[in-house]
Amino acid sequence: MKQNSFLLSFFLLLSISFFSCTQKLPPHTEYVMGTICTINLFDQGTEELYRELFDRLYTLESVLSANLQNTDISEINNASGVIPVQANPETIELLKEALLFSQKTEGSFDPSIGPLVKAWNIGTDYAAIPSQKELQTALSLIDFHKVIINSQNNTVFLEKKGMKLDLGAIAKGYAADELKKIILSHNIHQAIIDLGGNILTIGKKTSNKDWNIGIRDPQISNGNPILTLPIQDKSVVTSGIYERYFEQEGKKYHHILDIKTGYPVENDLLSVTIITGKSIEADGLSTSVFVLGSEKGKTLLRGFPDTEAIFIFKDKHIEATGELASRIHLLSSEYTLTQ
Ligand code: FAD
Ligand code: MG
Repeated sequence: MKQNSFLLSFFLLLSISFFSCTQKLPPHTEYVMGTICTINLFDQGTEELYRELFDRLYTLESVLSANLQNTDISEINNASGVIPVQANPETIELLKEALLFSQKTEGSFDPSIGPLVKAWNIGTDYAAIPSQKELQTALSLIDFHKVIINSQNNTVFLEKKGMKLDLGAIAKGYAADELKKIILSHNIHQAIIDLGGNILTIGKKTSNKDWNIGIRDPQISNGNPILTLPIQDKSVVTSGIYERYFEQEGKKYHHILDIKTGYPVENDLLSVTIITGKSIEADGLSTSVFVLGSEKGKTLLRGFPDTEAIFIFKDKHIEATGELASRIHLLSSEYTLTQ
């Protein structure tokens, strides 16, 4: 799960130092969307507002989950090859965003990846390497061109029977942006939203201090941060080999999948972190850049101004875009940092 443990403890540290000077409700943590979600409103958190925020998350889950029954996504999936299904406008909006990433990555990022996700079951107790036949069947059902949206009547149709949507690569970013809207509507300008490591900060830590966000060593489970970076009013989202995986015969199989081979993506990267204003963009981009690999990923990033990235490579070097490297605080002597 995306940097969960580390970020939670790091977050706790942030909180402790802040709590010492102000009276407030503690941050709220609940398990939603298959992951640990924490919201910290510091000295402005009330029971009612935390409830409103988590209720919004549960509502989004009840619309966007591919695992629960009667959600938009599961109904669209169940009707694949048969009939278009009416969906909530926000499902349509999110799906359209996801399909933009499909176009920009020539299908390496594909929200119709559902059959392959289900074939691997990574993150569940049933995770296992699928047979070649299962993989071929799943791969034959993935094609974002066959996801047909009718914006006039808000329907989605998956053209081939057996096709399935899975918005796991982008929905938490969308959810974080939605929470931010609620927080700002209450005139609160200092908060951290952490949806399973999908971080969105609002404002600054204090009037003259940025938030300090840590990025984990992708090779060590629950390891210490290998670097920290100061940010304000930004989302920080990482996709990598360590978020969800299982091990079989000494080999790790992670959850970001290659739609050509059907296997977990293998390239030069251990993880990619995206730093940008909107969390949906950070989430969509982090998965997209990870599946593309560093070279094509950098080309994709050129189309996203005001976006910074940190690449952690298998050969233990770290690259940061633009002037970001000068702001990063490297904590590990095992890694080298370049611009
Ligand atoms: P990201 O890099 O952001 O995304 C990786 C995920 O995207 C994969 O897990 C897969 O789902 C998908 N993906 C893989 N390869 C590709 C590709 N090539 N193109 C496009 N997408 C790809 N998990 C549970 O275990 N139980 C639940 O009940 C559950 N409910 C959820 C409900 C919702 C609404 C959402 C959004 C997610 C849910 N999850 C659930 C998934 C869980 O939270 C995932 O760990 C998470 O979505 C993966 O995101 P990430 O940030 O770790 O990685
Ligand atoms: Mg993502």
